[in-house]
Amino acid sequence: MITHTLASGRQLPAVGFGTYPLSGDDGIASIVSAIEVGYRLIDTAVNYENETEVGEAIRRSGVDRDDLLVCSKLPGRDHGYDDAIASTRGSLDRLGLDHLDLHLIHWPNPSQDQYVEAWRALVDLQREGLVRDIGVSNFTATHLDRIIDATGVTPAVNQIELHPYFPQVTMRQVNSARGIVTESWSPLGKKQAPFAEPVVVAAAERLGVTPGQVIVRWQLQIGALPIPKSGTPSRQRENLDVDGFELADDEVTAITALGRSDGRLFDGDPDTHEEM
Ligand code: NAP
Repeated sequence: MITHTLASGRQLPAVGFGTYPLSGDDGIASIVSAIEVGYRLIDTAVNYENETEVGEAIRRSGVDRDDLLVCSKLPGRDHGYDDAIASTRGSLDRLGLDHLDLHLIHWPNPSQDQYVEAWRALVDLQREGLVRDIGVSNFTATHLDRIIDATGVTPAVNQIELHPYFPQVTMRQVNSARGIVTESWSPLGKKQAPFAEPVVVAAAERLGVTPGQVIVRWQLQIGALPIPKSGTPSRQRENLDVDGFELADDEVTAITALGRSDGRLFDGDPDTHEEM
């Protein structure tokens, strides 16, 4: 399957596993299942309040920690330099790990105007070895260029809302022009999944796959790295089983054309939406 090579030379797989809102014993069981099914990139965040469960699932899975890539995210309330360092150490404590493979600034929160400080902290954490690769989430071109200009360090990843009703054509170009991998959150469209759209149904029938698989495959063919969440083992398997078929170019184009200017899942414009 397609993998993504980061500027550091390290690689990310084609598909990751989203863990929000998995928690508690059921959450641990779902994350263990995902690892058993074959996911190797696990996406969590301080604000998902499930880092403890992710760490426990990793230990229970029996898969070598070095064969897994663990990504967490720094919350808005910890953007100050010292807070960001302490927050990251807290993530490692809860996960029971000595390093994160990827750590992202969760939201830029521009009105707080501290994301450059947060980025300086991540740069230093990477130098120290506590974090292997660093990136951001929900950053626009302006936010990206500001942290790159301030530090000379380009994020490895920008994790953004991206699904057929919000295909992020411009942001994908912004990221790739800077050598940044685009990760897609809510890659299936969550509550607004376009599973019944005629173009999705027709492609699924032609290829003998499910609508969910068509959408994950579309993500791969537009060059994005989706992190679908499922608590259902059969769907976890389905979302990972996307390398044995290919969408035609006109199918990819037609799914991208489902995009709408009001296609966001909620009012999550990074210039105005803030999460602490
Ligand atoms: P999603 O992955 O697009 O959708 C998840 C929903 O789709 C769940 O209800 C799941 O149900 C269902 N589903 C999964 N596979 C399916 C399939 N093959 N067929 C039918 N239904 C299927 O949305 P998401 O959970 O919002 O996003 C994924 C991850 O992105 C999150 O878990 C989180 O890690 C990350 N995220 C990041 C941000 C950010 O700001 N950076 C924001 C939101 C999310 P079941 O579980 O019942 O199978």
